[in-house]
Amino acid sequence: MTEQTKEMKVDDIKTAAEEKTCPVQKALYFVTEFLAGPMCGRCFPCAMGSYEARIRLENLSGEGTKGDVLALRRIAEDMVEASFCKKGKDTGKFILDWIASGVFNEHVEGNCPDLQCAKLIEYRITPKKCIMCGECKRVCKFIAIHGEIGKSYKGGYLPYEIRQRRCTRCGECIKVCPEGAIVLTAAKAAEPVPA
Ligand code: SF4
Ligand code: SF4
Ligand code: SF4
Repeated sequence: MTEQTKEMKVDDIKTAAEEKTCPVQKALYFVTEFLAGPMCGRCFPCAMGSYEARIRLENLSGEGTKGDVLALRRIAEDMVEASFCKKGKDTGKFILDWIASGVFNEHVEGNCPDLQCAKLIEYRITPKKCIMCGECKRVCKFIAIHGEIGKSYKGGYLPYEIRQRRCTRCGECIKVCPEGAIVLTAAKAAEPVPA
């Protein structure tokens, strides 16, 4: 692989990362792909920095702390300053740009404003909109939805609900609901979860 090809690969990864809207998910995607491809491991700030950055970003996708944000900033600054080549320096710059969005600190508070971090979001069924057709339960591979198909001759049937502890946030149910009754919300804003 020529140096030019390697540089293009970093650019391609950056372009793909920018398709996500959440800066934490952009950075996590970029660093994961960088580690899998262009990162050659020849210098410490980039090699060790990238591995630690991925761990810190995974933390921020769920139960991250201010310490994770501070550590990421330190890692990225070290990469910019001491990496041997442009790929490591660029990675550090990208991470610093994504941190500058301010959204990393919101994740520490338990909010993903773009609703892209799976551990910080929930799928919920709006009872008023649900026509009890059962489509969502049919497509859920994780048996996370319970409820009974509505029948005109029968009253008192079980309403459709998502069991949050089983839900993997795969998003398949929202695609098939004919009434738009399933919504994506911030987990922090939601009421206590059904078991
Ligand atoms: S900065 Fe360049 S030389 Fe150093 S590990 Fe990263 S890709 Fe390799
Ligand atoms: S998001 Fe996926 S796992 Fe969760 S209820 Fe919907 S289909 Fe099931
Ligand atoms: S697919 Fe939508 S309308 Fe049908 S049962 Fe599920 S939430 Fe209700």
